[in-house]
Amino acid sequence: MIRVWQGDITTLNVDAIVNAANSSLLGGGGVDGAIHRAAGPELLAECRNIGGCPTGEARITKGYDLQARHVIHTVGPVWRGGDQDEDGLLASAYRNSLALARQHGLTTIAFPAISTGIYGFPPDRAAGIAVKTITNEAPDLQITLVAFDADTARLLTKAIQ
Ligand code: ADP
Repeated sequence: MIRVWQGDITTLNVDAIVNAANSSLLGGGGVDGAIHRAAGPELLAECRNIGGCPTGEARITKGYDLQARHVIHTVGPVWRGGDQDEDGLLASAYRNSLALARQHGLTTIAFPAISTGIYGFPPDRAAGIAVKTITNEAPDLQITLVAFDADTARLLTKAIQ
């Protein structure tokens, strides 16, 4: 089951919110910065101990001051024109996040629009990959696709239909 919701992912009361992290896992701008601010400094301390995460993979931490019990940190690809396996790496980021959720028995998961901000992935293309990967990998989980702005909400809704 997939729904689209527009707003700030850090406010959601779910088993896990997914963070569009960078490979250092040491925080950054965009949704990553918002999640670290809302979770508090203990999140950064746990992330430091993980020692990074390659593009397309995912790592799980606690949620600390967030409503969400866990944060799944995944690293989407930087868009470099489309011939550097960006599509495959974005699909892997979704797939590995869902696999990690499943391993931990989590069923309600919220994703931001991974890679479509600072990393420059075309948002319509990313929406299609997100919906296709979730539909194939996790038809049994309750997934919220979080749009921060109305344009992204429209693209995600279109991708589901
Ligand atoms: P990336 O580096 O993977 O591109 P960004 O954080 O720059 O990650 O952007 C990913 C998406 O997250 C963008 O659509 C951006 O508008 C959105 N975003 C930024 N802050 C939040 C937030 N607090 N809640 C949900 N989505 C957010």
